[in-house]
Amino acid sequence: MKIFVFLLIPAALLFAIDHDAFFTGKTMRVDYYHSGKAGEEHFSLDQIYETGTWAGSKKHLITPLNLGEYQVRLYDSASGELIYSRGYSTMFNEWQTTSEAKERYKTFHETFRLPFAKKPVKLAVARRDRQMRFREIWSTEIDPQRTPLINKAVNKPDYRVWPLMQNGDPSEKVDLVLLGDGYSAQDMEQFRRDARTYNEEMFNTEPFKSNRGRFNVWVVEVVSPESGISRPDKGIWKNNALGSRYFTFGSPRYILTENNKALRDAAGLVPYDYINILINDNRYGGGGIYNLYTTTYMRTDHPGQEWQKGYVYVHEFGHAFAGLGDEYYSSSTGYDEFYNKDVEPWEPNVTALRDKKNIKWKEMLTPGIALPTPWNKAAYDSLAMARSRLDRLATDYYEKREPFISRQHALLAGSPYAGMVGAFEGAGYESHGLYRPAVDCRMFSLGLVDFDPVCRRALLDVINYLSD
Ligand SMILES: [Zn+2]
Repeated sequence: MKIFVFLLIPAALLFAIDHDAFFTGKTMRVDYYHSGKAGEEHFSLDQIYETGTWAGSKKHLITPLNLGEYQVRLYDSASGELIYSRGYSTMFNEWQTTSEAKERYKTFHETFRLPFAKKPVKLAVARRDRQMRFREIWSTEIDPQRTPLINKAVNKPDYRVWPLMQNGDPSEKVDLVLLGDGYSAQDMEQFRRDARTYNEEMFNTEPFKSNRGRFNVWVVEVVSPESGISRPDKGIWKNNALGSRYFTFGSPRYILTENNKALRDAAGLVPYDYINILINDNRYGGGGIYNLYTTTYMRTDHPGQEWQKGYVYVHEFGHAFAGLGDEYYSSSTGYDEFYNKDVEPWEPNVTALRDKKNIKWKEMLTPGIALPTPWNKAAYDSLAMARSRLDRLATDYYEKREPFISRQHALLAGSPYAGMVGAFEGAGYESHGLYRPAVDCRMFSLGLVDFDPVCRRALLDVINYLSD
């Protein structure tokens, strides 16, 4: 059989781009403004920086992963050859699905991190159309030798930096950077403990646990003038270094920052592929956008609820790292309609099941399983409904919620299809018409459950892409 081994080599490797022929080994940070409203968007350059060591893969310059709402691409200007691509999603495209975006324009500051080109390149941005195919919507020429264009003096804030896990060359490993927000100078000892605790939490979860040696983790001690972050819905405003705040898109628990420049300056002190922001505040919340960053709250006033922070930390990393979609559907969000159920979503763990024979996790299906796969949805939904009627602000909320959560978990764990891969209705904030791969997963229920096999494979695909 050995003779046929070459057939298994992915196309991306057969046409591998020679890193050293096109790139210097440093990082090109391209800062730009992304503006628009629902159905309209514009790009304009801010600054292009030459910064430190390239942390991405030097072997897989063209992404083998079909992930993200957008794709950034570099073409060699002389030959027109595609020499780099990577998928990503943005706060902008989430904002476009809110009602505010129907009414007004808004600008977000965003960053591309690219291998630094030796010769002139065309940078292009592609976005998915309604059929989920990428179409280029903007491009600009960049001559890396042109002196006034490239800024070589990126801002380096004076934060202490230390390695938490070191396993090798950044271009051959997955590089994470952990940043704190809302930690004042007095809170820094707490931040160090949080960084260690939640990093361990992640590396105790598969598939990270078995692939620990393929990651580097850096910690940047970002000092905020004040403790905590803003809660605009409560009129509470804090001066925190990275600008993270609750109430993104009107959702009390959704934490994001629009201060991209401060975030990138702080993260850029080390080589990184992914950013996790630890939030020194005590209201439940977090966020995670594919190839952007995660946020997770780190304090709680509710004894017995510490586990929720670990759940959020790893769940959000699933979004940011592998573009995993939310599989839950019984919780409110700020989006009007996030998925169009008429087309197959790109997220690896959500399907509209429009073509049962070619379901995207076809080769992982439990043999003989029914599609869609029956599960005790009605019983689960009635528990979710009762749970949603509880007053979230009541002092005994967590006590009252607990029996519902345990009954929901018991129901999922007791399902005859537990542990199997099929297509279970209810995913992506939709009770009907979208399906998830397993009855339970870290992307589905609120609890310390493992990622299902389809999510685990998607996470492993990213580990393989960035480290070898
Ligand atoms: Zn989520």
